[in-house]
Order: sequence, then C-alpha cells, then structure tokens
Amino acid sequence: MESTRRKKIYLTRELPQEAMEILKSNYEVEVWQGEMPPPKNLLIEKVKEVDGVICVLTEKFDREVINAAGPRLRGICQVAVGFDNIDISAATKKGIYVTNTPGVLTETTADFAFALLMATARRVAEADKYVKSGQWKVPWGLMMLLGQDIYGKIIGVIGMGRIGSAVARRAKGFNMKILYYDIYRNEQMEKELGAEYVSLEKLLKESDFVTIHVPLISETYHLVNEERLRLMKKTACLINTSRGLVVDEKALYKALKEGWIWAAGLDVWEKEPVELTNPLLNLDNVTAAPHIASGSIATRTKMSVMAAENMIAIQEGRIPPNLVNKEVLEVRPPTK
Ligand code: NAD
Repeated sequence: MESTRRKKIYLTRELPQEAMEILKSNYEVEVWQGEMPPPKNLLIEKVKEVDGVICVLTEKFDREVINAAGPRLRGICQVAVGFDNIDISAATKKGIYVTNTPGVLTETTADFAFALLMATARRVAEADKYVKSGQWKVPWGLMMLLGQDIYGKIIGVIGMGRIGSAVARRAKGFNMKILYYDIYRNEQMEKELGAEYVSLEKLLKESDFVTIHVPLISETYHLVNEERLRLMKKTACLINTSRGLVVDEKALYKALKEGWIWAAGLDVWEKEPVELTNPLLNLDNVTAAPHIASGSIATRTKMSVMAAENMIAIQEGRIPPNLVNKEVLEVRPPTK
C-alpha cells in the first residue's frame, strides 16, 4: 500500500557516516557504487522511481533528466552551495524542491581561497618542487623564487557574498585595502572593513590580488575575459575558487604566458577534472588545486548532514531550510 511504502532516496555517492545514519534510519537508501560521476542514463532511470536524490555538483540534472522524473520525486538535495549543475526552472515546473548547503562551508572555503592567494603570491608549490627535485644548490639565494608581498596590498573581491566577505575579513588581518564589485552593495562590509564598492574595471586596474566569489550563472560566464584581464596589473595575482567557467581559460593562458598578469591560483576549471593537455598546467605561475576549497573533514560532514536534513524536511512536508527555488511552493505546496 502506498501509505506504508518506505520512501526511497538515491545517493549519487556515499556520504560521511553521520549523514548516512540520518538517512538510513528514515528511508530506504540506495547509493551509486560505480565510477564517478554516475552516467546520465542512470540518473534518468533513478529519477523515475525514487522520492528524493542527494547529489553533488558533478551530476548534471539538466532539463532532460529532470523531465524524466516520476511523480514521487519531491526533492534534489545538493551537497554544495553552488547549484549550476541543476536546471532550476525545469525542477520548479515539475514541482521538485532543490536545496543547497550555504553557510556551513563559508569559512573553510575562505580559508582555502586565502591559502591559494598566499601560495600563489609566495610561490609555495614551486618552492616545494624546487626543493624535492634537487634544484636547491646554493644555501641562500638573494633572488631565489621571489614572490609578491601580500601584507598591506590591495585586494579586489568579485562577489562580496558570504565567501567573498569571509575572504575580505582575512585580508583585513593582513592590513589590505579592500575593493569589491558585486551587483549589490554590501554596507556591512563597508562599515566593518572599510571595503570600497567600485566598478569591475576599477577593481581590475587597481588590485594586486583579484579573488572571485560569484556564482556561475549566465551573467557571470567568462566574466573575467581577455578584455578584463588586460586591465589588470602586471604584478597582480588572480585567484579563482568560484567556478571555472567564470574565467575564460584561453584568455587567462595568454595573460599568464605573455605577462599581462603575474600569476593565478585556480581551484576550479572550465572542465573538471582538468585535462593534462590544458596548457595552464605547463605554467609555473599557475598554482593548481582539484576543486577542494570546501574540503575539510568537518565541513564536508556538515554539508552532508545539512543535505540529509533538507531531504527529511521535504519528505515530511515541511519547507526545507535551504530551499533554492522558492517558486516551487506554488507549483507543489509542501505535503506529507
Ligand atoms: P553568495 O550567494 O553568498 O555570494 C555570491 C555573491 O555574488 C553575492 O553577493 C551576489 O550578489 C554576487 N553576484 C551574483 N551575480 C553577480 C554578478 N553578475 N556580478 C557580480 N556579483 C554577482 O554565495 P557564496 O556562498 O559566497 O558562494 C559563492 C560561490 O562560490 C558559489 O556559488 C559556488 O559556485 C562557489 N563555491 C566554490 C567552492 C569550491 O569548492 N571551490 C566552495 C563553495 C562555494
């Protein structure tokens, strides 16, 4: 009978134990065990029969996958704050609730953005290779692996939301002048840190460090393009921990190769995993990371628990705490 049927939740990968326990005590749980990410045809099959899906950003829930969903599918709960892999308008039309995990990863992601900024400015990855590969031959080199100063410099934050603000707070501790560009003013950061709201052009022209924290949406696709990279200082570093497609990688390669800018620290890439043929990987002035900015043990656990709690709220007929598509409430009001 429908009313006694145990609800079924599909997980595109195993989550930390705490989240698994919450889900297993409430639902029948199935976890994809194959190679990551699960293939599209499998997602199409699963959305037909399950009540909810918990996923991460490598799974593409495009219009075709969403439109294949059966009437039981009430929620897609993403374990990430960004949700550019999910077609939100298609989900809303189908009455599917989409949730994300904002806030719990803010400080961890900001820590990593700042770590990448420092590693890029002071050539930490290059230094590590230099020592381990036996290139360190003189005891102390006056001109060895020289980097850029951070303390007291100018940082330009593109996207002064949760993570951008957390990075700006760290920058304040380094006595940096803070410029920011956003579609909205952030008066809290202006008051608290003396951050100055400027045009994107001014930010690019004046900053020693440019750090990107906007979501990937159509307006931010290749926001940092050739024309804008050409505005930056020759000594500037570009740090991207948002999404790879916010930066035009071909233009960035030219900028780094031809010395329009000094270096880049990249956690995110146009295509992930980044291909070894990507020319950016041949540049010493690129510090590369495999999309790990939110990757601390504690934070990934909190994100997973948050996704599980969002799923429970949806299945119990409550409005989930982190609902992304609020308009869905009109299409399918919460019901048990
Ligand atoms: P947020 O919503 O708090 O902040 C985003 C900011 O960008 C907002 O202030 C918003 O007004 C601004 N913005 C939106 N569109 C803009 C535009 N066209 N031009 C200028 N500014 C614009 O989000 P958040 O929690 O700070 O996360 C930001 C992004 O970081 C996420 O969307 C995600 O893609 C990325 N992220 C990456 C990692 C990682 O592991 N590398 C981890 C967490 C988040």
